[in-house]
Amino acid sequence: MKSLFNVDEWSIVQSKFEPEKQLAAESIFSIGNGTFGQRANFEEHYSGVSLQGSYIGGIYYPDKTKVGWWKNGYPEYFAKVLNSCNWIGIDITIGGQKLDLNKCTVKSFHRELNMYTGILHRKFKCALSDGKEIEVKTKRFCSMSNEHFAAIEYNIIPLNFTDSITVNPYLDFNVKNQDSNYDEKFWKPYEQEVTSKNSFISAVTKKTNFLIYVGMNSEVVCNNEIFDHNELIQDDMYISHNYSFLAKQGNEYSIKKYISIASNLSIKDKEVKKYMYNNLDLLTNLGFDKAEKKHSNAWKEIWDHSDVKIIGDIESQQAIRFNIFQLFQSYNGSNPKLNIGPKGFTGEKYGGSTYWDTEAYCLPFFLKTANSNVSKQLLKYRYNHLVKAKENAKKLGFKDGAALYPMVTMNGEECHNEWEITFEEIHRNGAIAFAICNYYKHTKDYQYIDNYGRDVLIAICRFWKQRVNWSNKKNKFVILGVTGPNEYENNVNNNWYTNYIAKWCLEYTIKIEEEFSKKSESKLDSREISEWKNIINNIFLPKIEGTNIFLQNDGFLDKELSPIENIPINERPICQNWSWDRILRSAYIKQADVLQGLYFFEEHFDKEIIKENIDFYFPLTVHESSLSPCVHSILFSSINNIDKAFEMYLRTSRLDLDDYNNEVDEGLHITSMAGSWLSIVEGFAGVRIKDDGIFISPIIPKKWSSYNFKMYYNNEIIEFLVTNDQVNVTNNSCNNLNLFVNDKKYILNEKSKKVIDL
Ligand code: BGC
Repeated sequence: MKSLFNVDEWSIVQSKFEPEKQLAAESIFSIGNGTFGQRANFEEHYSGVSLQGSYIGGIYYPDKTKVGWWKNGYPEYFAKVLNSCNWIGIDITIGGQKLDLNKCTVKSFHRELNMYTGILHRKFKCALSDGKEIEVKTKRFCSMSNEHFAAIEYNIIPLNFTDSITVNPYLDFNVKNQDSNYDEKFWKPYEQEVTSKNSFISAVTKKTNFLIYVGMNSEVVCNNEIFDHNELIQDDMYISHNYSFLAKQGNEYSIKKYISIASNLSIKDKEVKKYMYNNLDLLTNLGFDKAEKKHSNAWKEIWDHSDVKIIGDIESQQAIRFNIFQLFQSYNGSNPKLNIGPKGFTGEKYGGSTYWDTEAYCLPFFLKTANSNVSKQLLKYRYNHLVKAKENAKKLGFKDGAALYPMVTMNGEECHNEWEITFEEIHRNGAIAFAICNYYKHTKDYQYIDNYGRDVLIAICRFWKQRVNWSNKKNKFVILGVTGPNEYENNVNNNWYTNYIAKWCLEYTIKIEEEFSKKSESKLDSREISEWKNIINNIFLPKIEGTNIFLQNDGFLDKELSPIENIPINERPICQNWSWDRILRSAYIKQADVLQGLYFFEEHFDKEIIKENIDFYFPLTVHESSLSPCVHSILFSSINNIDKAFEMYLRTSRLDLDDYNNEVDEGLHITSMAGSWLSIVEGFAGVRIKDDGIFISPIIPKKWSSYNFKMYYNNEIIEFLVTNDQVNVTNNSCNNLNLFVNDKKYILNEKSKKVIDL
């Protein structure tokens, strides 16, 4: 694959102006701070193709559902995180002509996202149609040290002229979502104020009444001379400072724009304005350079414990840092109302809502790269939605406290409205239980499980109990009418993955209840337990006769099992080239399905079985979900197929950088980025957390000479450096560590290092 932009260890670099790549660049150079974020739109006006996007986590609008044929049980709305105030805008007019890179001759262009410092830079020289040439240098960031700050520095040098320049830093709430179902505007003006210092604009979302205040302060300076505003512009949804001055050839004019954003998501309505103003004062007093430093220091701290260093392959190196960078830009665990949308803050697709991606992919990443409070926050998010998950199940006809978590949600209510997914892709319930198990395994947080986790597990199991039915024909319990993770097959019976995870949920919950009822009251009676046990012992798990291959679902073998090599290259991705009907009838698999189960429950199966299933399913899998390649990479590592594991690693980690699925224009695949990290840590390094310690079985891709990563374990940091023949382990914790390397046990004393031959 060819990289869209230049390859560099710590940066993403675009070294020429490429309007045809503008949408992709806007996605890839996105910045954010876990609270808000934005696509890398230009500050100055740009009339070329662009998707303006600035998003604030958790601020959504319930856009009325639009479907062709209404089905009972459909949700009334799809919650969408809204495109919000455009706060980056700075219009520049030179001698009466508006600066617009789409309309001038761009002589040089350099855009760079430095992932170490978290700063987005741009530098260009261009000539306007009347021959005036300017140089522009910009920097901006969404602060990681204060979640309400953002700042821009925009410097202009007239290269061959002296003429008037007008600079308009502005805030603009006249924004729309491209994916609005009824072409509606979602914001109503609230209040605005423009003064020569602090200014702000505020708006309220229709229906949900989210109130946002965005404050701005600006300055223009040249050779220590501070310029005054000439005019202040104010409209319902737009405010601007206006500076006009005579710009002299060769002088550098520096515009600084300070931004503070606050909302009533977690602050009382009456206090939002004050909060925004306090932060704006704080930021302005700090000044650009100091605020930038604090922001970059915050990034340094993140990198200190989360960086993965790869020696020998710069493409792999850039990719993993890009994935880690984007994940920490999308979520920081500070607010229980926030979660991780599949596109983070980089696009509108998926509405910024929460999917099973969080539990299946992101949680394992945050469990090992951040303090356990971050993962606990993700679990609490689902716990807080338990009542709604029960209502959701009730609406579909379930009873007795059964919970069906939504496929897509913002506030606990289901938002998705394709029946084959909304009603049928019920495996998501399993991932939520699996996440609780994963969290408990990593943290031993007894209190959390006792106070919250058990209730969620039990409600999920009550759903499974009612969702199975007895088949006389099969003499087994079956689960009918589902969609597995592979969304290229719908409404199937006995999806192996779904049946298996349902069975596991019941088993695990019984085990937890047995453990916890020793200390506190049991939450299950013996009748319920015996009903569940009956299901566990008698659930149908389809298999291809005479093999160890688990069958994706009933009827799968009736399909024409032709390998993906037979799909002409110009017809891929098939989701962009084939009719839906053709996709459904084909045997092509969108993403790991049976293999997703073998990944989750690897320890239930021996390696030969895993290999046999990979050999069967891999040739049929098109990986048209970003969530697919990482699972394959990890499984290939587990069976020691390093070449395939590496191929899949590149595919997951460079999915957006190399645009494998031809869709990066619409935003990045944030949730699957966690899978890239897992491909290294669980894949190549083979890390598994078990009751008796950390297990590793490291292998290394041929191109790499070493890789190094750190990992949280019981809230302490353990560090690994893997080379071709050794692994160096540093135990930074104050406890002895039980480490198993290729199943051989080593004990690392507190604060000690060990070099182990492989
Ligand atoms: C995948 C789902 C996933 C969703 C959001 C879909 O394409 O098939 O498994 O939850 O994207 O990432």
